[in-house]
Amino acid sequence: MITLLEGFRGSETIRKLELKIRELIEKLGKTLRIMEFCGGHTHTIMKYGIDQLLEGYVRFIHGPGCPVCVLPMQRVDLAIELSKAGAVLCTYGDVLRVPGSGGKSLMDVRAEGGSVRSLYSCLDTLRIAQENPAQEVVFFAIGFETTTPQTAVLILKAKELGLKNLSVVCNHVITPAAIQHILNAPDMREYGKVDIDAFIGPGHVSTIIGTKPYEYFAEEFLKPVVISGFEPLDVMQAVYMIARQLLEGRAYVENQYSRAVRREGNLKAQMLVAEVFELRKEFEWRGLGKVPYSALKINSRYADFDAERRFNLSLPAAREHPACICGKVIRGVVLPTDCKLFGSVCKPSHPIGSCMVSSEGACNAYYRYRLPS
Ligand code: SF4
Repeated sequence: MITLLEGFRGSETIRKLELKIRELIEKLGKTLRIMEFCGGHTHTIMKYGIDQLLEGYVRFIHGPGCPVCVLPMQRVDLAIELSKAGAVLCTYGDVLRVPGSGGKSLMDVRAEGGSVRSLYSCLDTLRIAQENPAQEVVFFAIGFETTTPQTAVLILKAKELGLKNLSVVCNHVITPAAIQHILNAPDMREYGKVDIDAFIGPGHVSTIIGTKPYEYFAEEFLKPVVISGFEPLDVMQAVYMIARQLLEGRAYVENQYSRAVRREGNLKAQMLVAEVFELRKEFEWRGLGKVPYSALKINSRYADFDAERRFNLSLPAAREHPACICGKVIRGVVLPTDCKLFGSVCKPSHPIGSCMVSSEGACNAYYRYRLPS
């Protein structure tokens, strides 16, 4: 009898897939360069040694799909300033550890007596606002399309409850815009530094937006996109599907993660997001710079809950650590091990850059699974 875990991680099936992948790629006659957009996939690849299993056949290029990693330092500084100004600053755990300018994080601000709360669910902000009616409570919202619907629900509930002391700094970003930006990036087109044959598309994001938004890349840039789950067999099967497409001269969107993802996505979640948010003209991503139409802001119907309008916020100038090359890691131009701070000065217990903080960051994955002995 095959156990549930074997169905996703069975070594015999992985071995069979490995042989099939090698056979296809040998026929193609080149090493495939595949970008896994999502940090969750980077961790699966590193943790289960898929990169080592397919060494010489597939080169995995780690993409920018980690919301904490792509958050620019100015926004971390903004959160720190809000907290220092007396707001109760609420956000998800990893954000607390990202260093802002000068190396200080929200965790440090909390240690110095600042009111900073770590949340599992953004809806906890409702309770915190009700318990602290005399204080401004700000939810610092980050994430890709996966977490945006929850923030929409938070704002709708806050309006329903008539909360006047709750607002949101919206840092939600959009996956397809980032992929398009990567494909148009000069270091891809001009220098060929990040030559990508195909993408492993994000699984969690696609449960919300579906597979349809990726069809443009497949058609326009002739790059196969395979949406994948996060188990090792999922990723191996996605690589197999990519190799098969390339061998057959096709460039389509295929869905390996059909147990969770539909072409149209989650329509109810999409409607919630459309009710509360609108596109920003541009948004600064760490590593990618300003990316057009790549993020969301709260629309005018819910302006009362927009912290950026309420407090008339503007972004401070950031001071990045001069030796941190997170930006290049996020663009897939270098590997984390190319950074001279990796594993010595910069480690998960003392992160210098955002890619080491997040459990989805590429530097964090290399530290956990590939630290040279
Ligand atoms: S190892 Fe640390 S300092 Fe170097 S790029 Fe990664 S996060 Fe930045």
